[in-house]
Amino acid sequence: MNELIRKQKDIRLLQSISAVLEWDQETYMPGKAIDWRSEQLAWLAGQIHQKETVPEIAALLKKLDDYSPADDREEALVRLARREYRIASVFPEEYVVEKTRHLSQSQNAWAKARQADDFNSFRPFLEKNFDYARRDAEYLGYEDHPYNALLDLYEPGMKAAELKSLFDPLGEYLAGLVRRIGEKEQVRSDFLNRSCPVDKQEALGKEILQTIGYDFERGRLDATAHPFTTELGPRDIRVTTRYDEFEFTSNLFSVIHEGGHGLYEMGVDEDLAETFLGQGTSLGIHESQSRLWENLLGRSRAFCDGCLPLFRDTFPDVFGDVDEETLYRGINRVKPSFIRVEADEVTYSLHVILRFNLELALLEGGLEVKDLPEAWKEESKKLLGIVPEKVSQGVLQDVHWSFGLIGYFPTYALGNLYGAQFLRTMKRDIPDLDGLLRQRECAAPLDWLRKNIHSHGSVYPAGELCRRVTGEDLNYRYFIDYLEEKYSRIYGV
Ligand code: ZN
Repeated sequence: MNELIRKQKDIRLLQSISAVLEWDQETYMPGKAIDWRSEQLAWLAGQIHQKETVPEIAALLKKLDDYSPADDREEALVRLARREYRIASVFPEEYVVEKTRHLSQSQNAWAKARQADDFNSFRPFLEKNFDYARRDAEYLGYEDHPYNALLDLYEPGMKAAELKSLFDPLGEYLAGLVRRIGEKEQVRSDFLNRSCPVDKQEALGKEILQTIGYDFERGRLDATAHPFTTELGPRDIRVTTRYDEFEFTSNLFSVIHEGGHGLYEMGVDEDLAETFLGQGTSLGIHESQSRLWENLLGRSRAFCDGCLPLFRDTFPDVFGDVDEETLYRGINRVKPSFIRVEADEVTYSLHVILRFNLELALLEGGLEVKDLPEAWKEESKKLLGIVPEKVSQGVLQDVHWSFGLIGYFPTYALGNLYGAQFLRTMKRDIPDLDGLLRQRECAAPLDWLRKNIHSHGSVYPAGELCRRVTGEDLNYRYFIDYLEEKYSRIYGV
C-alpha cells in the first residue's frame, strides 16, 4: 500500500508541474512561446504516461488482490489506482504525446479563431479533435455507445442513456419555464451595465472570495479569457476571472463560481494530498460546489441583502438607486442568451443539453464538423428560441472542444442537480442559513460542505457521496422545485 502511494505521488508531482505550465499558458505566457510550450506539455504527458503504466503498478495491484482494505480510504485508493492504471495503459505512449502536442496547438488556434470570429481556421483542428475522441473511445472500450467511454473519464460510472433520461424531461421543463417567464413583466437590470472600473471590480472580487472562505495564502486570483480553477499543489489552488467594465456580474459570479471550485480543493483532507484521492471525486460534484456558491447561495435573496452595502461602498454611482429587492431580481433575470457562462440559472442547463445533443450526433456520425455551425443554430432555436449570428457566439464560444474535452459538458448540468439536492440537506442542518448569509457570514455553510463533501476528496464516488449526504440517489426534482419556488416569486409564473 505504501509503495502504491509513493507511485501515486510521483504521478501527482508531474501532473502538478504540467498544471503550472498550463496555468501560465492561459495567464501570462507571451503568444510566440506556444510552440516550445506545446513541446514541454507533450514531453511531460509522455513522462506521466510512463509513470502511470510502469509494470510495478500492475504487480502491486496484483498483490493487493488478496488484501482486505482497512477502511474506506484504503478501499478507494486501490479502486482508483486500478481505474487510473486501466485508463492509462490502454493508450500507446506515442499516441498520448502526439495528441497532447496537437491539443495545445488546437487550443491556440481556437483562441485566434474565436477572436477573429472565423470557424474555418479552427475546423481542421476540431475535426482532428473529434477523431481523437473516437479513437479514445475505441482504446478505452465501451458498452452501448462510444460516448460512455468519454463520459466516464469525467463522471465515472455515468452513462449516455442515463443522461438522456435526465436531460430530456429537464430540457422540456426548462424550455417551458423560459416561455412562461417570457410572457410575464420583465425585471429591471439596467444598473448591472453601468460603468464599474476594473481595478475596483478586482478589489471587490478579492473581498468576495475572502467572504466565502477562499484562502489567499494558498491561492491567487488572475484574469483570463475563460475563467478556471487549477490545483498546482495541495496548498496552491488558483482561480481566474474575467473583467468587463460594463458587465458587473461577469466578474462577480465568475469569482464566486471559481471560488466554489477552489474551496472544494482547499478542503480536501491533507492526508489524501499525495494520492489520487486528493482531489474532487467527479466533475459533476465539482460543479455542484461552484454552482452552489455562485447561484444557490450567491444569487439568494439573503446573500444579496448582505452584499448590497459592499456594492454601494465600492460603486456608489451604480448602486445608489438600487434596493435589495431590485438587486435580487436584476441578478436573477431570466433571458435566453448566446453565451453559456453568462446564462441565468433557468437557461444554463439548456446550453449544456445543446452541446450534449451535438456531441452525441458527432460521435454517432449523423453530424459532421463542417456542418456544426448550422446544427448549432438549429439546436439553439429549438432549446433557447434564439439563433446566434456569429460563430464566436455559438460553436466557438467555449474552450473545451479545443482541448479535446468531449463528454465533459454534461457535468455542468449535473452540478446544478447535485447542488440543489445538497442545498436541501444543508438547509435542514443549518436552519438559520439565510440569517447568516444576510450578514455575509459564510463559515457555517463552508464547514458543512467541508465536513460532508470536501474533506473526502475522491474517497466516495459521486453517486455514493450523494446518497451519504442526502440519503438518496440523484433526483432532478430538487432542482425543479428550487427553480419553481424561486421564479414563481420573482416573475409570478
Ligand atoms: Zn465550473
